Amino acid sequence: MKVTITAFKAVASWKWALPENSDDTCGICRVNFEGTCAKCKYPGDDCPVVIGECTHCFHMHCISDWISSEASQGKCPMCRQPFKEKTADHIGQPQGTPAPRTPAAAAT
Ligand SMILES: [Zn+2]
Ligand SMILES: [Zn+2]
Ligand SMILES: [Zn+2]
Repeated sequence: MKVTITAFKAVASWKWALPENSDDTCGICRVNFEGTCAKCKYPGDDCPVVIGECTHCFHMHCISDWISSEASQGKCPMCRQPFKEKTADHIGQPQGTPAPRTPAAAAT
């Protein structure tokens, strides 16, 4: 029997536009950026990734929790430089085909 693979379905069809040589895992929760932080269910715009000027990258929710803690003093947890964030764009998303989302509020 001959099996021909005609299509390969990737679970994640997009990637974050992260700086070269940056980790693809969050420095705080250690989860890959194609996944979410511990609080979120859906990767993507619901759980954005921020890039610091020091090129360290984190889930926005992880770094904002960290920055809001007194211990952080507004510094990057990886390199201890003052953390200035910019939101990463994601790339590779097919044009005009937004992923369907199920509103969680509809339940109960
Ligand atoms: Zn994280
Ligand atoms: Zn999140
Ligand atoms: Zn840093």
